[in-house]
Amino acid sequence: MTPESALHELRARMGAVNLRLLESLLEYYQVARMIGQEKDRLHLPHFDARREAEMLGEILEANAASPARLPDDMLARIFKEIFKNSTEFMGVQQRKTLRVHRNSGAGDHVITLPHGRIGGGEAAIIAGPCSVEGRDQLYKTAKPLRDAGVRFLRGGAFKPRSSPYSFQGLEEEGLILLREVADELGMDVVTEVLSVKDVELVARYADVLQVGTRNMANFSLLKVLGSLHKPILLKRGMCATMEEAILAAEYIASGGNNDIMLCERGIRTFETWTRNTLDLAAVALFKQETTLPVVVDVSHALGRKDLVARMAFAALAAGADAVMFECHCHPAAALSDADQQLDMEQAVALVRHIRDCDACIPSSMK
Ligand code: PEP
Ligand code: MN
Repeated sequence: MTPESALHELRARMGAVNLRLLESLLEYYQVARMIGQEKDRLHLPHFDARREAEMLGEILEANAASPARLPDDMLARIFKEIFKNSTEFMGVQQRKTLRVHRNSGAGDHVITLPHGRIGGGEAAIIAGPCSVEGRDQLYKTAKPLRDAGVRFLRGGAFKPRSSPYSFQGLEEEGLILLREVADELGMDVVTEVLSVKDVELVARYADVLQVGTRNMANFSLLKVLGSLHKPILLKRGMCATMEEAILAAEYIASGGNNDIMLCERGIRTFETWTRNTLDLAAVALFKQETTLPVVVDVSHALGRKDLVARMAFAALAAGADAVMFECHCHPAAALSDADQQLDMEQAVALVRHIRDCDACIPSSMK
């Protein structure tokens, strides 16, 4: 036999071994999928360090008894990689069974409100002041927005503030003002609900209930919102992973309320030049993984005014269905987030800019 034909034969043998390995891997992942499903039913974590150590022990024991023994550390590396991938595989399988997952068979979800839609192709704009401070302020802010075509009015009546001594919001009076001004102008109200005890009150006045970044993991609140017949705008926690944000949305969906928008509002990083870091990959991934409309809050992501137009464009290019921003008829006098609120001239210009950006995004990217 020539050296060439010996090599050829060995390669053929290796090819056959590869196929046997593949067959074993296929069976391995089939079993992993079944174990994952059982663990999900039993509410057990997919990763189990003790079980992995036990399995590795059995493998190394069998290796020690084999005449063709391989170095233990090499074998351990190979199997640890298989175990790690198998845990990840269980996670992916579990994600695909979520109600909000694209795999659920449902198409892109569109939220239909009295004065417009969020999702379904055309970029929506949610705008208004950080906080409702009074009728005059709210009207002078909402009117130019409505005249420019904005249909969704935001404004906080219950404010989650870092300091207990900062303005906390007008509470019910703020809700009444939001409703009155929105009705007068033909707009829908988007406003935050801070706690379970306020859900009924806020739902009486609002068209969309917002869950703020600090409340994304308030599971009792999410459960109550799951049984509500009103759309929810769920903000991603400032330190939450994408998976945690999707699971928070699932909490609401599992209660029967499918009218959920996922909102990227920036995450905490080491950066100091912007208030948060706008995670645009999350926007693209939320669109890819879920059927939910995605909103990008450029104001809280940036904490400054000069970058909002560029980042609104970037958000739409990443797949956002709506852009949210804060504006105020007299920003310098604002009782909260004065630095990031646009004045009304800037706000109206931004509305036009968002429209122009939207027209540039190919429909296949929406
Ligand atoms: C808000 O939108 O008013 C707000 C407080 O935002 P966040 O929860 O993202 O900080
Ligand atoms: Mn704000």
